[in-house]
Amino acid sequence: MLFYNTLNKKKEEFVPIIPGKVSIYVCGPTVYDFIHIGNARPMLVFDTLRRYLEHRGYEVNYVSNFTDVDDKIIKKSIEEDIPAQEVAERYIKECKQDMEHMNVRPATTHPRATQEIDGMIAVSSDLIAKDFAYEKNGTVYFRTRKFREYGKLSHKNLDDLRSGGRSLLVTGEDEKEDPLDFVLWKPKKEGEPYWESPWSDGRPGWHIECSVMAKRYLGDTIDIHAGGEDLVFPHHENEIAQSECSNGVPFAHYWLHNAFLNIDNRKMSKSLGNFFTVREIEQHYDLQVLRLFMLSAHYRSPLNFSHELMESAKSSYERICNAVDNLSFLIENAKTEGMSEAEKEKAKELEGFTQKFDAAMDDDINTADAFASVFDLVRFANSEVNGDSSKEFAQAVKDEILLLGDILGMIFEKKAEVLDSDIEALIEERQAARKAKNFARADEIRDQLAGMGITLLDTREGVKWKRA
Ligand code: AMP
Ligand code: ZN
Repeated sequence: MLFYNTLNKKKEEFVPIIPGKVSIYVCGPTVYDFIHIGNARPMLVFDTLRRYLEHRGYEVNYVSNFTDVDDKIIKKSIEEDIPAQEVAERYIKECKQDMEHMNVRPATTHPRATQEIDGMIAVSSDLIAKDFAYEKNGTVYFRTRKFREYGKLSHKNLDDLRSGGRSLLVTGEDEKEDPLDFVLWKPKKEGEPYWESPWSDGRPGWHIECSVMAKRYLGDTIDIHAGGEDLVFPHHENEIAQSECSNGVPFAHYWLHNAFLNIDNRKMSKSLGNFFTVREIEQHYDLQVLRLFMLSAHYRSPLNFSHELMESAKSSYERICNAVDNLSFLIENAKTEGMSEAEKEKAKELEGFTQKFDAAMDDDINTADAFASVFDLVRFANSEVNGDSSKEFAQAVKDEILLLGDILGMIFEKKAEVLDSDIEALIEERQAARKAKNFARADEIRDQLAGMGITLLDTREGVKWKRA
């Protein structure tokens, strides 16, 4: 399996630290608003990588953080006159809903920066003790030039560097020994959330968060660190500096970065105002269409968002779903059971689709080519399976499409829509059964609803329900 490693600027064979296991850290969103579909790109791409690694038999420990303390969150909390923590809480919940609707699996762990402050203080203290960091008037800075390998990820020369990117706005920026030094801890400003530390009441810098959360949940050296390409410098470069100076071992073996999702060839971003939230897209499309659109490009190629491309993704998605629907119909209505000799021969070809699919994914997660295998398979299904096919043959073809779909996080079999009115009728019947002390029937209905993904809540105001 080959991954393009930003560290060495080439595709490299993937060798995990522990055979059979993979540790992955993906930088997650700052939760001050709904996520936009640009933020969704790394989520979709690296969720697909995780699914593929599991398909190949690896046990994957996947960690992705929520940055829940940040200038933008504080700004929003002031605008809306609610605590910063409440802003973060709200958008973590919304983000998790978007992820679920995009069929992005929850990470093994979703650490939150504010719950890891002790670790950040510990690592900052350690860096001071090792002389890689220093304190000035309550602010702690990392001594960038002291780390000789600084710049190795972004391939920048220290002397050409200006501390660019997302600079942390702190009072007393001029106290730094060197303009390249960056903040590990900064004192609070009036009204900001803060934590106590040996240096000041304040909060951590953004970069130290990820170093600490990766160390706590994955260890000092991890297999894969991923995120959008805008994070290479300074964020990931600084993570490397902090982690390697503190731990004395390489931080991550493979650095994977997705290219941007653009609009009119400019990065989709909140600050440019040229974005669509996942929630907005969901009003017009099944989010499986968004997933297909995103994975139909290679993750390292810039992808331009347009309604034409979304429409084309929609018709591709429908084509696959229709083929699966048709196979289900043929399975239900098959006249013969047991594959014929000719079918057994044909069924052997199915393996070829998995092989082509795996070869594409092995080549630096080429989801675009992997999708091509799915389309080939759909063509195979449409031409080889018909009313005369045996049930087993139709089933084998359907299973193959669903298997490849599942690795890509695609759901090609649409679940029957459960109508609100049906749910309410069942709830009424359950109430009547309870009144008649027919508890067995009442429980049966509860279980039936649970099977439909409906949870019942018995409240004082009556029975409420929600979809799981
Ligand atoms: P942020 O909340 O801005 O830190 O972004 C969360 C993640 O989304 C990071 O991995 C970013 O690199 C990524 N990201 C943000 N905007 C885009 C975009 N337009 N295209 C692709 N990835 C993006
Ligand atoms: Zn990070």
